[in-house]
Amino acid sequence: MAPGLIGQAVTGLIVVGPLGGLVWAVATAWGRGLSLMNLLVACAFYVVAGHGITVGYHRYLTHGGFKALRPVRIGLAAAGCLAVEGGPIGWVALHRRHHQFSDAEGDPHSPYRFGTSPLAQLRGLVYSHVGWLFSGPAAQPEIYAPDLLADRDIQRINRLFPLIAAISVLAPFLLGWLITGTLAGALSMLLWAGLVRIAVLHHVTWSVNSICHLVGRRPFRTHGRDRARNFWPLAIISMGESWHNLHHADPTCARHGVDRFQFDSSARLIRWLELAAFASDVRWPDQDRINSRRRAQPLKSATSDHTIAA
Ligand SMILES: [Zn+2]
Ligand SMILES: [Zn+2]
Repeated sequence: MAPGLIGQAVTGLIVVGPLGGLVWAVATAWGRGLSLMNLLVACAFYVVAGHGITVGYHRYLTHGGFKALRPVRIGLAAAGCLAVEGGPIGWVALHRRHHQFSDAEGDPHSPYRFGTSPLAQLRGLVYSHVGWLFSGPAAQPEIYAPDLLADRDIQRINRLFPLIAAISVLAPFLLGWLITGTLAGALSMLLWAGLVRIAVLHHVTWSVNSICHLVGRRPFRTHGRDRARNFWPLAIISMGESWHNLHHADPTCARHGVDRFQFDSSARLIRWLELAAFASDVRWPDQDRINSRRRAQPLKSATSDHTIAA
């Protein structure tokens, strides 16, 4: 079922608002530059919110790649809310549905939805990037995330999502005010560390759904029609999530960049949590399991032989 009118309007605001900030920021920064402090605060918020999504929402809450102490569980879920991609329960339900139907009928955001001709792939790229947010199939939490519905802490964080999202925008404004003591400084920080940072992280997250199912290598075997790929140019900015072919081949594995020189800061953070005894039972890569899923020859071509019924 597609979201209702109000839901679509809210989603539109969440998609277009930060993007408008990005355009405004580029326009106002032209010739005047952006302060180093703006950049540092924006990066700090990006790293916290980004890992809230990759480590918290994704590897921990969706796939159970490790166990965490209660404060860490709550902290990771709250950090994920800072990314303004919705509360943890809806996010997890949709992502589990994506894994259940990867690139087949029922996948909420497959770029192969309209076919494999160049035009259909272009349409699929746009759909899998943002189009699905407005018209894609829903994933009922009762079916896809009953474990989170039964968790009072996660329920509470989920209810607090609008407040945490507002903090994600207003905290940079206050920080800018404290640092510079001027309204202009506060507004400039709101723009860069608030709106622009949120817009960039949105598009990086959505690129894993779109680009990482269309472009890149497939060194590992995946099930059925699943066309997830490893796309190295996004490795750093996606915090290791663009090693998406390995992730679909072994979804509960806590490390996605399993080969040499494959940057994966999310796995590094999980390792630090484990060393600090905040996390346990981490599902680190098992060499035999990884090798059993490795192809003799990695597939490189983006061509595919199927179409998904719309
Ligand atoms: Zn995927
Ligand atoms: Zn996943």
